[in-house]
Amino acid sequence: MNMLDKLFSREINRRTGAHAISIYIDSATKTRKRSRSLGSSAIKASSSKNRGKNKTIITTKRAERSFFYRLNIRFPWLKLVAVIVVGVIVILDLCDLTISRTGDPHSKVRIAPMAKHVKATDRIFKGKMLAALTFDDGPFPETTSRLLDILQQKDVPATFFTLGSKAAAYPDIIKREAKEHHEVASHTMYHQNLIRIPAASAVSDINEAKSTLSSILGHDPVYTRPPYGNINETVRTTVGTPIILWSVDTEDWKSKDVNSIITTAMREVHDGAIILMHDIYPSTVDAVPILIDTLRENGYELATISELVKQRGLKLENGTAYYNFRP
Ligand SMILES: [Zn+2]
Repeated sequence: MNMLDKLFSREINRRTGAHAISIYIDSATKTRKRSRSLGSSAIKASSSKNRGKNKTIITTKRAERSFFYRLNIRFPWLKLVAVIVVGVIVILDLCDLTISRTGDPHSKVRIAPMAKHVKATDRIFKGKMLAALTFDDGPFPETTSRLLDILQQKDVPATFFTLGSKAAAYPDIIKREAKEHHEVASHTMYHQNLIRIPAASAVSDINEAKSTLSSILGHDPVYTRPPYGNINETVRTTVGTPIILWSVDTEDWKSKDVNSIITTAMREVHDGAIILMHDIYPSTVDAVPILIDTLRENGYELATISELVKQRGLKLENGTAYYNFRP
């Protein structure tokens, strides 16, 4: 009796108790065979002829009526299959292998933690409407760090339009954003209204932000969002990146109210939306996990700007403003 049979037998005995029943089988030979296959002390007792029909009455324990007993008789190979399946599951779990990130909370597919395995740009979005969460004016230590924790927990990449001046003060937060596959873009150096200051000052502000972010990230920022969305010819010719504006303004800076942020976002959201928020307000950070869940419940998945662009098959032009990426 091998180890599996012993365990199996013990389980049968445990579940069924010691009450004896009688069953009929075709021959004593078959009985012995079955006894061996059960491999259990559960089968014992006597056998006798049954009214001349050459059938043997075997008295055994109630074990033989049990689900496990019948399963073992009918499908003796099932134990081996079960062991193999469990083994494969354990190995997969140990390796932490992943299938794909669907982002669908109702999906049976396992959602892989993005930060560990899947680059934001490698994701597949079959059958999903897309929206991009974008956060301006950060980083700010408390709120941005808490937001990053939430995004990590929800497995959502976002695009941060950061101020060069704040990035210089909190470079570790910028590095964390990049490391966790968020997109880091420029919101200029000092948040000036670029169309109201001398052109030379606007150029200097844009370039200072670019070099500051470049020294932290190791590459130039890929997009620019001028403060207030204000653009003129100087801005267009200086940024050297596509200009990303927005199609959904949550007005989180004005309301500072979780319900208002979510209601506004859900009222205006559309496939390809660029949602504007600010990672410097606690109320915005509070709203984000609820907004993510609500968007997903309504068929949306959250993507970075680059993912949206890639999904739409677009090639963006430097100095051109984009407000959304509708299909
Ligand atoms: Zn701003």
